[in-house]
Amino acid sequence: MYNPLRFSWKIKRRFLKWNTADIEKHQRKQISKLIKSSLKKSKFYSTFYNGYDLADHAGLPFMNKQLFMDNFTDLNTKGLTIEECIKHCLDKEKTRDFSQYHRGFLVGMSTGTSGNRGIEFVTKYEALLMQILVFYRFPFPKAKKIHLAFILRVFSPGFGHEGRKIKVSYVNPLDTIPAIVNNLNSLNPNIISGPPSVLQVLAKEKQNGKLSIEPLLLVSYGEVLDADVKEEVEKIFECSIVETYKSSESFIALPCKSGNLHINEDTVFVEVLDKENKPVEPGKPGYVVVTDFIKYGSPIIRYRLNDLITVSPDFCPCGSKFRVIEQIHGRADDVIYGKSISTEEYQFILPDFVRRSIVSSSDYIEEYRSIQNTPISLTISLQLNKEIEKMLKKEEVVANIENSIRENISTVFQKHESQVPELNFKYEQIVHDFDKKLRRIQRNFK
Ligand SMILES: [Zn+2]
Repeated sequence: MYNPLRFSWKIKRRFLKWNTADIEKHQRKQISKLIKSSLKKSKFYSTFYNGYDLADHAGLPFMNKQLFMDNFTDLNTKGLTIEECIKHCLDKEKTRDFSQYHRGFLVGMSTGTSGNRGIEFVTKYEALLMQILVFYRFPFPKAKKIHLAFILRVFSPGFGHEGRKIKVSYVNPLDTIPAIVNNLNSLNPNIISGPPSVLQVLAKEKQNGKLSIEPLLLVSYGEVLDADVKEEVEKIFECSIVETYKSSESFIALPCKSGNLHINEDTVFVEVLDKENKPVEPGKPGYVVVTDFIKYGSPIIRYRLNDLITVSPDFCPCGSKFRVIEQIHGRADDVIYGKSISTEEYQFILPDFVRRSIVSSSDYIEEYRSIQNTPISLTISLQLNKEIEKMLKKEEVVANIENSIRENISTVFQKHESQVPELNFKYEQIVHDFDKKLRRIQRNFK
């Protein structure tokens, strides 16, 4: 555990001064401390590692959402039961008052896309450490006073703040778009933090003159930030977007002043593993496994997330030796699978390939979604620019778009030595549901 005052002093120093050996030494120490504490304080962990060598962290069994939720009551070290946490969260949903604490803890509930409920809680102390981490490490732009507007469905009191230098406001993404725009216009924040799908909608409102704010920086979280969306939104707002990477289990990464996303090596140990659970080399995609050094109330040890990332083989030009995340590819569930031509085996194809195959096909594509229902079929929904309706040769234009996508997808699958899937096209208005994460690329089979 950390002393908050010493912790804030160390936050910047560690990031800039530590070399790889310092990082590894710190992580080894933190891991052993966390395991010792969890064994002592958590009923679940007191037996979970029976028969394992505790000194060999990489040999310990994985934790995942299912196992975590099934054992929540025994696993947490604060005596919270799963029943009381769920009840508290459902009550909060009813009253819409998300500022309530439960027995001094901040308890939140997430509905996973598969419908399974996740309970997350932090102690006030843990929330304070996370706040310090963000405020001391985040590359705030130069301004007299920072006013950060969080577009966040659930108000998290752990991050509420009004100080001399920084003010944080919350905007509910479930309001209508005109209401969100009005709210932002009157708040006039200089930083906006929201999922990229929301930032993209705001960019359109900015473009049509309804949104008048001129932020200095945009912060993206919660969804994959596609390169084309980044470019479009940055151009309209005339400022850059940086990413943060946080799951309910851990605050994984923060951007630096060069705009790169650094793993918070001092507060979380991140492993990037392949299908056989072996570490992948930097520069190659792998599954994320986290061990968190802050959340002692609900110990997170070798917790397997459903995310796929690539860590950069290079250090960042900012000088920090904290590893840089080159790309967050999204949910591992949404990786595309190709059926190998020669071996009949399945191999994964990063969603970005499919994304680019579609986006680069035509400027008339305004929005899209690709759903892989079987290894050899893809359904692609397209929302095309209304200009097309007015065209005399509309059918020809649409056929050209389809052909171009078909060609691009074939190239991608052939490069991966996989059978080219059959493509079905649908044309529809694709609406973002702000209540859910936007997933443009999805897979519907295991
Ligand atoms: Zn950097």
